[in-house]
Amino acid sequence: MSNETIQRRGLMLVLSSPSGAGKTTLSRRLLQSDPGIVMSVSATTRQPRPNEIDGQDYFFVTPEKFDTMVADGEFLEHAVVFGHKYGTPRTPVMKALEQGKDVLFDIDWQGTQQLKQQVRDDLASVFVVPPSKAELERRLRIRAQDSEEVVRQRMAKASDELSHWAEYDYLLMNDDIQHAMGKLEEILRVERSRRARQPGLAKFVQKLMRED
Ligand code: 5GP
Repeated sequence: MSNETIQRRGLMLVLSSPSGAGKTTLSRRLLQSDPGIVMSVSATTRQPRPNEIDGQDYFFVTPEKFDTMVADGEFLEHAVVFGHKYGTPRTPVMKALEQGKDVLFDIDWQGTQQLKQQVRDDLASVFVVPPSKAELERRLRIRAQDSEEVVRQRMAKASDELSHWAEYDYLLMNDDIQHAMGKLEEILRVERSRRARQPGLAKFVQKLMRED
């Protein structure tokens, strides 16, 4: 029996960080380099930025639609971030996990706490640490997609987000993107090998024990 044919359950890989720590770049690169992981596309009530595509970066919805989705239990978790509502649609995540696909989440600490309560065994959480506050601000500014007021708000929120670092399984310093990518791939590799993620392999071992 080859390792690839043995049934496995997907895992939920959460990336959180203050805005500007580079987690969007890390997510994109991981999705490109690893066909076994898919992105969870969140719904949000905030306006799209230039270049953002509805259904790909986010599902951009009205506050009314968002509230209906909450009432209908369509979200695995949801939270207010920077005055806008964000939520993770439940169905695509559950389908991917059942198919043995891993799912990547770019959500904040509030969402991570909610996911942890619901799906503890399926979750691996990573907190991306920026190399400095100055670098964080620089990255927020070169993005230049947000107004000065929004940049200020996001810098203020950075301290709040940073204070939740100890709630995560892994810390990942993003001083150099190549280095951080290597570390992230390593985390994913290790997490995929956990016993709970390989129910098929566990059955295989039990069968092996019965043979003599
Ligand atoms: P942005 O507006 O810059 O795309 O995202 C702002 C913040 O919202 C980021 O910290 C991001 O991780 C978080 N976020 C995005 N989608 C979700 C979601 O579905 N749930 C939660 N809790 N946070 C989210």
